[in-house]
Amino acid sequence: MEIHGKHLLGGVPEAESPRLFYAINPATGQPLEPGFHEALPEEVDHALHLADGAFPALRALTPAQRAALLRAIAEEIMALGDLLLDRAHAETGLPMARLQGERTRTINQTHLFADLIEEGSWAQPRIDRGDPSRQPLPKPDVRSMLMPIGPIAVFGASNFPLAIGVAGTDTISALGAGCPVVAKAHPAHPGTSVLLGHAIQQAIERSGAPAGSFSMLQGAGHAMGIAMVQHPLTRAVAFTGSFRGGRALYDAAASRPDPIPVYAEMGSINPVFLLPGALAQRAEAIAEGYLQSVTLGAGQFCTNPGLVVGIDSEPLRRFVDAAGRLATAAPSATMLHPGIAAAFRAGVERIGQTEGVRLAGGATAALDDTSCQASCVIFQTDVATLGEQVQLMEEVFGPASIVAAGAGVEDLVAVARKLDGHLTATVHGTEDDLVAYADLIRILETKVGRIVFNGFPTGIEVCAAMHHGGPYPATTDSHFTSIGTGAIFRFARPICYQNFPDSALPEPLRNRNVGGAWRLIDNRFTQADV
Ligand code: NAP
Repeated sequence: MEIHGKHLLGGVPEAESPRLFYAINPATGQPLEPGFHEALPEEVDHALHLADGAFPALRALTPAQRAALLRAIAEEIMALGDLLLDRAHAETGLPMARLQGERTRTINQTHLFADLIEEGSWAQPRIDRGDPSRQPLPKPDVRSMLMPIGPIAVFGASNFPLAIGVAGTDTISALGAGCPVVAKAHPAHPGTSVLLGHAIQQAIERSGAPAGSFSMLQGAGHAMGIAMVQHPLTRAVAFTGSFRGGRALYDAAASRPDPIPVYAEMGSINPVFLLPGALAQRAEAIAEGYLQSVTLGAGQFCTNPGLVVGIDSEPLRRFVDAAGRLATAAPSATMLHPGIAAAFRAGVERIGQTEGVRLAGGATAALDDTSCQASCVIFQTDVATLGEQVQLMEEVFGPASIVAAGAGVEDLVAVARKLDGHLTATVHGTEDDLVAYADLIRILETKVGRIVFNGFPTGIEVCAAMHHGGPYPATTDSHFTSIGTGAIFRFARPICYQNFPDSALPEPLRNRNVGGAWRLIDNRFTQADV
């Protein structure tokens, strides 16, 4: 398989525009061949017409056929072998071991969605049997289930080129639901995206799904993304990236004559609360885990713990000393692209220059202004400063974090109350701490999508119970997750049938439960026939 610079339009590599852009190897600063064509408005339009045309046939596939499509995608990704890992390494600077792990996660999550779809209960079939003899009015027979919504615009993330890239969780959950996908490759890893897009196309061909089920467009500029969101045939948008990007797409979707949902995951500072019992027992061990979490993937995780809050005390000072020492000893790492590295440098400078903030450890000076290298930095401050300087509670994407000391429990609760919406919060404590600080937990429940106890927020488990979301501005819709099998619910909506004859109902709602899914019949979950 050769990496070409074209779009993938329903199975066909095509490109009309003479304007090219190049991926940059962040480790060397050098451009990588080939040049990639910028998508034209006509190509965005073509991709969405292909998707719309494919929708009836894609949604008509049986659950077993859609599951087979997903499993074929997993096989085709593996078949790319080292070519995929080598290109991803060159385009992102992520270490090979990390990319191998991410590929495994990508394959596993694809199988997880395949199993989910085949089993069938995800579509939530509900049946309320009618009763023509009910008085004073007959009760109608009412049945409902989820159905796919149509073409989805997917924006691949820069920081997970495989697991949240063009063949990542958004595309897989959309295809699994029965929705065609038009993906925008992230401009920082266009070659990796071509390989993944090719794998999807091969799988589509092999499994007999309609060719227009998947298209992928290249481009480095905001205009084509906005065109994808505003295209009349797009039914929903999935995005992972910056607040500015997510909000721009959300506003573009809201300004359509027919607004559509945008599921944007836009990051978070993931506050960590250190409660006294835990700090007294293991301040240094928590510092070690914290540093690993801050530096993982050069800090380029939306779950990176950017803020720590504890009560001013001897154990908290031991924690800060240990974290500072470890930060100073941590090796620098390559960030994903020059834009992210520049944003990190600016963020570190902004925090470092804030009155009342001191360096606890690490390096504030970047190696030079153009390299993509980043060093870990840990700052310290107090809760009063945190309250006055709002920018200290904003995300700095990369290996930086700040520890704030408060006078007592009221300060911890006050910080929690001031938080915006975030993806996660973490609490280190003992069971007694949890009783003493129950108010803190109640507040955090209103602020985040996931609360971690005695662990760290990085390293998300992909499973049914995972919720990777949170109140705005962490995401644009806190009801939904972008990681875990719940991600599929972004791309389906309920449809209700009243008094339909059995033979005209979708199979999951018919009297005989052929697929064996769990169904809610007359308010009881059962796998039985009606
Ligand atoms: P990004 O700038 O938000 O870009 C992500 C995608 O959205 C790209 O395809 C980009 O296309 C598009 N886009 C961005 N702004 C847009 C706009 N105004 N209109 C239309 N399309 C737009 O994210 P990034 O390049 O990955 O990293 C930049 C920053 O995002 C980081 O420094 C970090 O703060 C944050 N980030 C957050 C997460 C997270 O997990 N939440 C992950 C990665 C990055 P073009 O570049 O072609 O316009």
